[in-house]
Parts: sequence; C-alpha cells; structure tokens
Amino acid sequence: MAQIEDTFRHQGMRRKLIAEIKQKGITDDGVLEAIGSIPRHLFMDNSFIQFAYSDKAFPIASGQTISQPYTVAFQTQSLQIKKFDKVLEVGTGSGYQSAVLCRMGAIVYTIERQKALYDFARNLLPVLGFRPQFFYGDGYLGLPTYGPFDKIIVTAGASFVPEPLKQQLKIGGIMVIPVGQSDHQIMKIITRITETEYTEDDKGGFVFVPLLTGLSD
Ligand code: SAH
Repeated sequence: MAQIEDTFRHQGMRRKLIAEIKQKGITDDGVLEAIGSIPRHLFMDNSFIQFAYSDKAFPIASGQTISQPYTVAFQTQSLQIKKFDKVLEVGTGSGYQSAVLCRMGAIVYTIERQKALYDFARNLLPVLGFRPQFFYGDGYLGLPTYGPFDKIIVTAGASFVPEPLKQQLKIGGIMVIPVGQSDHQIMKIITRITETEYTEDDKGGFVFVPLLTGLSD
C-alpha cells in the first residue's frame, strides 16, 4: 500500500499541471478541480513519483499504463459529467481515472481484467475517500446487470466499439472510446439518440494500451 503523503510540493506541481492542461484546451472546471486535488503520485510506482505531475502516461503494474493527465481530462470533459451520473469505466488500471470521476460526483462502476491492478485500485481508492464499485472481469461485456449507464468511458484502445457497451448506454447517454489499431486510435464520442440510433464524433488521435478480451489469469 502506498504511503499516503501529499506535500505542498506535490500540490504546487499539480497547479502547474492544471495550467498546462488548461492551455491544451481543457475548460471543464470540475475536471480541473478534480485533477488539481487528486494526488496522482500515489497511483504510480515509487520510481516514477518525480514524474507524476508531468503531462505524460507512465508504466504501472502488469505492463499497463496510467493515462496521460491531458487524456484523462479530455475523456472526462467529453462525457460532460454531472453529479450522480452513473458511469461505467472499462480499464480501471491504477484507479486514477475512477478517482477523477468520483471526485466529480459520479457513481462509478469500473472493470479491470488484470487481477493485480484490480487489487491495487480496490485497496487504494477507499483510503483516499473514493468508493467506486470494482469489478474483475472482461470489459468488452460491460456490466449488463448494473446498466444502463449515463456515461461510458473506455480507457484502452479498442479495434471496434463493443456492441454490449452500446446497448448499456442510456438514451441521451455518452460513450467515449479510443478506436483503432494497436499503435494509434481515434477518440470517438458516441451519443445514443434513440433505442436504435447513435451519433459518432471523431476527436483526434491518441495512443492507449490495447483493450484485450478475457481475463489475465
Ligand atoms: N483508467 C486507467 C488507465 C489504465 S490503462 C488509469 O487511470 O490508470 C487501460 C487498462 O485497461 C489496463 O489496466 C488494462 O489491463 C485494462 N483492460 C484492457 N482490456 C480490458 C478489458 N477487456 N476489460 C477490462 N479492462 C481491460
């Protein structure tokens, strides 16, 4: 378990990070407030603590990454999060993105297929006061018994949009999902207009670790 220490130095570094992602186009005050308040260094391996507040992705356990803060901010802003929104996250990873959503008042359900990461996030987040519901499973399938969701966020690169996730979106709901090949994806914003109709908006290129099927062990 990480040592829970958040110093003035860390807080100062976060203020700089906020200025940086604002400059890159993040305007949602709730997103900026969340990133400004959550100690990202506690979600990362000790050896990377000095890099925790640079706007970069970094390695975490099981060969995965904690997303770049700008990417977290961009995906979250795209979802137009409101208090009490019911949000499904596919790819818990470090738990950082879940913490951002919780901080903004969302009711968060998060799925991870790597057991070590599922365990890590499930232990860390409650210590920081965040209580999403954690699931160890295959996010391609979503959570049929818990849906439908106001918002869905996929934090790994998919080669296509999984049909179960579209089905678990409420009418009027928004999904953000990076879709493409293993080394490059396009961020898609999908809105469910009616029972059968969806709109799709492409929002530029990103790089995520791949969305994989099944469980890690
Ligand atoms: N949101 C995370 C980003 C983690 S990287 C964070 O804030 O740190 C993406 C994560 O998606 C990895 O942990 C990977 O194991 C997970 N993943 C990949 N395919 C998955 C699947 N089918 N179901 C659930 N999680 C998946």
